[in-house]
Amino acid sequence: VTLFRRARIYTPLDTGRPAAGPAQGRIESWDGGALLVRDGRIAAVGEESEVLGALGAADRRAVQEVDCGGRCMIPGFVDPHTHLCFVVPREREFLARIEGADYLSILRDGGGIHATVESVRASTEEDLYAATRDRALSALRLGTTTVEIKSGYGLSLDSELKQLRVIARVGRETPLSVVPTLLAAHAVPAEYSGRADAYVEHVAAVVIPRVAEEGLAAYCDVFCERGVFSVPHTERILLAARNAGLGCRLHADELDEGGGAALAGRLRVASADHLLAATDAGLRAMADGGVIAVLLPITAFTLRRPYARARAMVDLGLPVAIATDCNAGSACVESMGFAFGLAVLQMGLSVAETLTAVTLNAAYALGLGDTVGCLAPGRPADLLVLHGESPGILAFRAGVSVVDEVYKAGVRV
Ligand SMILES: [Zn+2]
Repeated sequence: VTLFRRARIYTPLDTGRPAAGPAQGRIESWDGGALLVRDGRIAAVGEESEVLGALGAADRRAVQEVDCGGRCMIPGFVDPHTHLCFVVPREREFLARIEGADYLSILRDGGGIHATVESVRASTEEDLYAATRDRALSALRLGTTTVEIKSGYGLSLDSELKQLRVIARVGRETPLSVVPTLLAAHAVPAEYSGRADAYVEHVAAVVIPRVAEEGLAAYCDVFCERGVFSVPHTERILLAARNAGLGCRLHADELDEGGGAALAGRLRVASADHLLAATDAGLRAMADGGVIAVLLPITAFTLRRPYARARAMVDLGLPVAIATDCNAGSACVESMGFAFGLAVLQMGLSVAETLTAVTLNAAYALGLGDTVGCLAPGRPADLLVLHGESPGILAFRAGVSVVDEVYKAGVRV
């Protein structure tokens, strides 16, 4: 039994569905807050006097107290979009890009994702695991307690399976909760160059059934973008995934408006991610389809592109979540705190809306809205103590880690 005292507690409240529109900015807070943990789960949370009332006699003998000294407590971050499973980041290419080369031309030159694919295919499972684990543990230190990790750097049956086994192992052997996503349709692999249709068939008919049979993925994702996978390709793959029992999500309208958001709405997928170029019609289709918008401000920042229109999305009634998109090329930053700062400072979201975006709505994007993402009785005590008085410290001191303490299921990690 652990009792956190003298905390300024801020949390979204779960109403049974993703927080959209004005609800995205509705946050509960207690200035003189306390939180009681029993067996790794939250037993009580609220004003200290009320929480003390929930302490039984047996609790009083066993209780360990943590004095937060007036610091802020929030739920652990849920990062709903990462590509953490790779060996080495492409630092040199990043420098070339900031000096003017664009992503699709780097791709055509065999650089970009193909370089990462080659190294992932060539690496041993053990080396890939060690690199992925280290990156995941860094995210944990920065406050992420639940993380989605995609495959998509293998692009062949064997190496996608290898990535997914590594991702599952990170979930078993680190404190993080991990949600695995199959992203075999991240790019067309070199051996299928010019034969995207054939690769799509291979993914739909061979890769998806095998991954589903082995139970290695909760979701299937597609990089739906002009010049990569078209809307019909994306639909073919996602319908095959749904048929195999996987949840669906997609990378949509990142570089160009290509119909990805509209498709997401039509298929009623869990989330459509990026959306830098999404139109109002696409966003409305998403809202109608109950799709969560997962925005990736760090990628826009590192690619020096205009941010997704987060303010317009919230005003349209779309539930917005925020993720890091940590990957080997464009944005190799696993800090949800930094994404939080960008959302507030650059995307026009309020601190309260952003807090919901990095916790509860992110949890909903992963199908975990009833499990994690807020501080409420019965949920695992996944929480952060910040070096400040409110979650606004994440924006005020963006770029510095203000996460003093990380607790996963009530245990300090
Ligand atoms: Zn991505």
